[in-house]
Amino acid sequence: MNNVEKLIAAGEKCGIDIDETQSRLMILYMEKLLVMNEKINVTRITDEDEFIEKHLIDSLTCLRFIHHDAKSILDVGTGGGFPGVPLAIMLPEAEITMMDATGKKLKLIENICAEIGIRNVEFLHGRAEEFGRDPAYRESYDCIVSRAVANLCLLSELCLPLVKKGGQFIALKGKNYLDEMDDGEKAIKVLGGKITGIESCLLLQSDLVHVIILIDKVKITPEKFPRSFGKIKKEPFPG
Ligand code: SAH
Repeated sequence: MNNVEKLIAAGEKCGIDIDETQSRLMILYMEKLLVMNEKINVTRITDEDEFIEKHLIDSLTCLRFIHHDAKSILDVGTGGGFPGVPLAIMLPEAEITMMDATGKKLKLIENICAEIGIRNVEFLHGRAEEFGRDPAYRESYDCIVSRAVANLCLLSELCLPLVKKGGQFIALKGKNYLDEMDDGEKAIKVLGGKITGIESCLLLQSDLVHVIILIDKVKITPEKFPRSFGKIKKEPFPG
């Protein structure tokens, strides 16, 4: 089986319907990223089978939870483009913005996307908590997704101010998410969110359990959030 077929088959096992064109694009993205990864380190996963499962399929486990009418989707802390790039390939009608504090990673994925013709993408270089204070971005996205960026409490302060009221925030977490739930849940409430579901996804070969935390933005975020990164790091979440 070639990689394109492997990805389609892996998707089927997880209930994700990937067509051949989409699979080709994702595999092409993987190949280009792995070549560039030798110069700029964006992922430690260099084995292709592992990449297909832990980057491509894992990114797509949140696909079925994204509201069908979500037009603007933001990936906070996208790194090597996960989950943003696979989502952009699967949702051609939506506009996917990839945000990262590290410019050189972002430039790399921007170049690859341009080269292979992924057009429904935008790139934002900077810190989520700074965009969150900027009226041009605050309360403006239909959906925010984020994987492996920070604990749920901190991540919620970075992401929820950027979600529009009525929109959603989807946090992709590892199996240790329970340790983060107490603090996370409190912060989510204060920031205008409401947890509506916690879904677990079993990845195929590795027996990895990943958890998806679904949060609706039910109220506008209070003016004082997000705080500066220094404060977020140093001071506990107030309230
Ligand atoms: N989401 C990717 C990358 C995770 S690594 C994946 O799952 O593979 C975490 C990334 O978040 C890094 O690239 C880092 O630069 C970025 N990051 C961390 N804090 C951030 C912040 N406050 N705003 C924007 N990006 C941030």
